Amino acid sequence: MNAKVETHKFQAEVQQVLKLVINSLYSNKEIFLRELVSNASDACDKLRFASLSDQSLLGDDTDLAIEVECDSDARTVTIRDNGIGMTHDEVIENIGTIASSGTRRFLEQMTGEAKKDASLIGQFGVGFYSAFIVADKVTLTTRKAGTDEAWRWSSDGTGEYSIESVDTDSRGTEIVLHLKEDEAELAESYRLRSIVGRYSDHIAFPVRMPAAKPPVAEGEDGDEDESKDDAPEWETVNQAAALWTRAKADISDEEYLDFYKHVSHDFNDAVSWAHNRVEGNQSYTSLLYLPSKAPFDMQWNRDDRKGLKLYVKRVFIMDAAEELLPGYLRFMRGVIDSDDLPLNVSREILQDNPLTRKIRAALIKRSIDLMAKLAKDDHDKYLEFYEQFGEVLKEGPAEDFSNRDKVAGLLRFRSTHQAEGKEADAVCHSLADYVSRMKSAQDKIYYLTADSYRAAINSPHLEIFRNKGIEVLLLTDRIDEWLVGHLPEFDGKPLQSVAQGDLDLGALEDEEEKLDREKQAEESKPLLERVEKSLSERVAKVRVGAGLTESPSRVIAENDQMALHMQRMLKQAGQDIPEQKPTLELNPKHPLVEKAASIEDEKLFADYCELFLDQALIADGATLDDPAAYIKRVNSLLLG
Ligand code: ADP
Ligand code: MG
Repeated sequence: MNAKVETHKFQAEVQQVLKLVINSLYSNKEIFLRELVSNASDACDKLRFASLSDQSLLGDDTDLAIEVECDSDARTVTIRDNGIGMTHDEVIENIGTIASSGTRRFLEQMTGEAKKDASLIGQFGVGFYSAFIVADKVTLTTRKAGTDEAWRWSSDGTGEYSIESVDTDSRGTEIVLHLKEDEAELAESYRLRSIVGRYSDHIAFPVRMPAAKPPVAEGEDGDEDESKDDAPEWETVNQAAALWTRAKADISDEEYLDFYKHVSHDFNDAVSWAHNRVEGNQSYTSLLYLPSKAPFDMQWNRDDRKGLKLYVKRVFIMDAAEELLPGYLRFMRGVIDSDDLPLNVSREILQDNPLTRKIRAALIKRSIDLMAKLAKDDHDKYLEFYEQFGEVLKEGPAEDFSNRDKVAGLLRFRSTHQAEGKEADAVCHSLADYVSRMKSAQDKIYYLTADSYRAAINSPHLEIFRNKGIEVLLLTDRIDEWLVGHLPEFDGKPLQSVAQGDLDLGALEDEEEKLDREKQAEESKPLLERVEKSLSERVAKVRVGAGLTESPSRVIAENDQMALHMQRMLKQAGQDIPEQKPTLELNPKHPLVEKAASIEDEKLFADYCELFLDQALIADGATLDDPAAYIKRVNSLLLG
């Protein structure tokens, strides 16, 4: 061959991923075929779409299909499609690199055990590399539709690949796997046929394999005309009808699960799905899936959203997750096939179209219903799902006002209430659970935001609630502070922070307690004024609060201020927020506070005041501006 052969090194990430794929997916090696057929089907989808605006791309070759064949003597398996194909640069970009920017960081974090975890590997879009599970050499020959240059990519999967220009008559992509010696059995056609049957029945394009040769009749011997073998009779081995167009009753769970892997590019199983046909002034079919594992970059990757494929009259149009689902449902996967949208629908049209608005509203409802149903039918399975996607779901109340209450109903929290059979810190309490456990005199849903469960459960803010047996939700995700800002109430009950405002326990406090507290406040007035004067630089106000029973003091933000926890988070994130002094609440019955009240020495009194404030700040989760001064003061007080 005189054509120039280029040799490239795989991007470092690709090499790592390749190794992981080979090691972790080996026990399930047959999936290589599922992945390659899935890619071939995507390529046919893309060409069919492109041909809507440029019919010439199809030429005479209008029968889009996939061929699978093998040669047991040569130990090869070939997968061929007449889809969109790739240009030279596309081959390098799609096969030689992994685009996602988070990949390197993610790989670095992966340690021993995790590296064996197939569920993690499925997140990269690494389907093509699964070829190397069974092959020690792979060649890919491809010609992009509408061009006449063809390219051959070839690699043994150990660090380098080559690309050269070749001649070919056919459009699309052909992949030849040279099987490893001990994978020879995969080059038997009955074996391939059963794998294709198992994994690719739902593929919408025909998957063809050479028809089985009739057995050699007795009496005839083997030295038959060999040229017969060269032109195999092709036979379609799948149903070749898009799965979602088939009747629900005819689709097995297994088929639904396999189809999920094809649309989602996820190696894990879906948790559940909803398949619906809507007829009326607008007709469409939707098939939505709840995934089981979050992609590694879901948290920060809000922009490049994949996973909801839009078809119009069975023709794949585009990935339209952004147009058809809000950000807080970006983990949903599936297909939507509209009978009414025009085939030439563009993103711009989709974004501002009454038809899409309706479909979008319906998809949101179906997604929420799907989660609500899972929560109802299988509590533990729902919690597993929630562990993966709960934080994203929490963006819902802010993003989607009209579904605020429904989304709020799907959220789960930690709580001071311990659920039976669950760890004390389990994230398993719904707002509805909370409401059902509210005291008869209680009219608010109480919560505390903190950095961790331990900080929350030991917080002085909880003392009075523990004493009175009132449940408090413990919100420990970073997004929670933002969530409660957009969720003023649930089921008609306002959400109230226990660390904010002058605690009004309403009917939860009886007359006697109220009078007692007012009396205390009256009696402590001189002390409060003295403390306020002493701490005037650092606090806005000092008062006797309803909240304390064991600790001498606590800090709170007033209702019209930003929560202290929120202030700290913003500061940590480098935001410049105006300084807001907290309110200090004292517990006049605490021996240390009683002691302070009797101190005449102003310097010593000031030390006590600083101590009350610093301790309250520490318990609230703050870091002190001057920790050394605090330690010095404590030590000198200890020495008396
Ligand atoms: P994914 O399918 O999740 O994108 P893969 O590793 O399976 O990841 O494939 C990587 C990319 O290579 C595909 O997105 C596609 O652009 C390209 N590709 C793979 N197979 C084919 C094919 N048969 N025809 C055209 N492009 C292909
Ligand atoms: Mg793929």
